[in-house]
Amino acid sequence: MSMPNVPRGTRLAHIGIAVRLLDEILPFYRDILDLPEVPLDDADGARIAGLSAGEPLVELLEAQMPDSPIALFVAKRGPGIHHLCFEVDDLDATLERCRAAGIRLIDETPRIGAEKKRIAFLHPSSTGGVLVELSEY
Ligand code: ZN
Repeated sequence: MSMPNVPRGTRLAHIGIAVRLLDEILPFYRDILDLPEVPLDDADGARIAGLSAGEPLVELLEAQMPDSPIALFVAKRGPGIHHLCFEVDDLDATLERCRAAGIRLIDETPRIGAEKKRIAFLHPSSTGGVLVELSEY
């Protein structure tokens, strides 16, 4: 297995942006802003385009199914910023601190996200109205 991770401290990993049509908006980020594309897996019923913006990524999220979380978000609020993702040194320990603080968890246990990392979402009702994803290095 891999070496134990050296603690790096919590940092912004990516901003997830819900879009109606990826092909319409991707050229703005990729060709006009000149952000290099990073291959990502589809996740949670969404097609995802990853773009490197320095260290953090911009992830454009297009619903692939009418009942997926991104489809519901766009239908209700229109396209826009959907979530922030913070990478943490120890996801289990962070989730435990969240639990102890009474923060509402969407994912009680970590699962594998679009970047093949362990992730978990926190509910916006506990985080100032922003959907927060935690991931691990
Ligand atoms: Zn994300």
